Amino acid sequence: MTEELFREDASLLACDARVVAIDDTGIVLDRTVFYPLGGGQAGDAGLLRGPNGQDILIADTRKHKTLTGAITHVPAEADRLAGLHGLAVGDRVQACIDVDRRRAHMRFHTATHLLCALIPHPVDGCSITAQHARLDFHMTDALDKDSLNEGLAKLVAQASAVSHRWISEAELDANPGLVRSMSVQPPRGLGRIRVLEIAGVDLQPCGGTHVANTAEVGAVVVTKIEKKSAQTRRVVLGFA
Ligand SMILES: [Zn+2]
Repeated sequence: MTEELFREDASLLACDARVVAIDDTGIVLDRTVFYPLGGGQAGDAGLLRGPNGQDILIADTRKHKTLTGAITHVPAEADRLAGLHGLAVGDRVQACIDVDRRRAHMRFHTATHLLCALIPHPVDGCSITAQHARLDFHMTDALDKDSLNEGLAKLVAQASAVSHRWISEAELDANPGLVRSMSVQPPRGLGRIRVLEIAGVDLQPCGGTHVANTAEVGAVVVTKIEKKSAQTRRVVLGFA
């Protein structure tokens, strides 16, 4: 199992760790700051620095398909072909994420929560990358780009604190309105669920990485609104 340092502190950019497994999916560490693809948010990229100073570029991060609770760091093809430069199980590494890419994910991800506050309809799809974010809302009404951008700018300018806490599954069951997403249900069976709160704006289960204050979202705007189906409106966000 990989200790998920990014869940408690999304501002961590690097950590020391030990290699616990290497297989055809990538490199598994005992702890990591790398966020694995999930909840619509893309996985982190970055590098692992090995004990001999060798750098292994990491192209993506995924939840391991067979090792329960493990996160696998997917090496860049050239480094995989180079035998990971001799990296072996048991080695100590320094794990460093690509800061610009993660920063973009955090800004966009937090902006999607602001959109949820502006559009009070269930979400049935979500994708967050370093270039754009898109959110699909289950609704039939038309959306207006200008008024959404006005609303976003206002929520960013009001500089609300962004924080998380853990609640029990019983607490979640008692508050079904907390679940905004129709496509992604919060993970069950772990006994506790992570809830993201933007003070006075939004509250919902979420395991992703976010900025600490809405002011850090900065200049994010709605670039496109599409009618994906009779029941779905897609909102695309980009950097202004
Ligand atoms: Zn979130």
